[in-house]
Amino acid sequence: MKRLILTYNQNCNLSCDFCYINFHYEKIEDKTYEIIKRAISLNFDIITFGGGDAFSKKSFRDSCILAKENNLVTHVDTNGLSIKSNDFDFIKKYVDVIGISLDGIGEYHDDLRKSKNLFSKINSIIEHMESLNIKMKINTILTEKNKDSIYNLYIYLTKFKNIERWSIYQFFPLSVAKDYKDMFEISDENFDIILDFLNNESPHFKIEKFKFRDRVNGYIFCDEEGNVYTNSLEGEYIHLCSIFDYHVEEIISELKEFINPKTSNRYVSTQKKIYPKNGWKK
Ligand code: SF4
Repeated sequence: MKRLILTYNQNCNLSCDFCYINFHYEKIEDKTYEIIKRAISLNFDIITFGGGDAFSKKSFRDSCILAKENNLVTHVDTNGLSIKSNDFDFIKKYVDVIGISLDGIGEYHDDLRKSKNLFSKINSIIEHMESLNIKMKINTILTEKNKDSIYNLYIYLTKFKNIERWSIYQFFPLSVAKDYKDMFEISDENFDIILDFLNNESPHFKIEKFKFRDRVNGYIFCDEEGNVYTNSLEGEYIHLCSIFDYHVEEIISELKEFINPKTSNRYVSTQKKIYPKNGWKK
């Protein structure tokens, strides 16, 4: 399985202090659609649209449709801020895995994401998706700041039948997030203590716990200009080439992994929406 993680590195509609994307805020040409075409020809199996909120980017929806029409698994991780009412139909048809960030209940989430009323918006999105039977994944960053909200968050999530997976990430001091290490860093021991209660629970959703020390290298990232890069175990990004380069396949094939082995089962177990030959019925 080969996964390409497309990150919008220009900017994000939020400015979380624990963010590890080094946004450059420069004027650029967004080549996302061409990148997806290239990813299809390079035989990628999965496209993950990450980097804050793909729904806020003009290039996203058409690019996601193109990926789906070519039967790639489409995965979108989003902070949910720009999801509009007409996006639910789009998600149902074209997104195989939709991951929404939620780091706590009420003010815990709003404070961590520095966005007033964001929790309330996410709550409505989850409720709406449940009513449409759209399966979802919840992404939580566990830090020293929100550790006291995790149990309540768990209880909250158990209310929703459409939640399939809860991915909990230990705060990663990667790249620019290193500047806020003192505020957010949570030790391995505390990470285990906070999540210990889950060992006695059997919710209807799967739980993935990601510790910083269990990180792997070899993720394949591509920004919206086509720059391909990977991550080192030391928490740095390494530029590899452009996705439009002639030798890109050779360069990528030198990586040890094409996907984090711990995550591949999400795509196998997720019911893939096979794109019908004649398109979706209107
Ligand atoms: S929403 Fe995600 S990408 Fe955007 S600033 Fe926050 S952590 Fe970074």
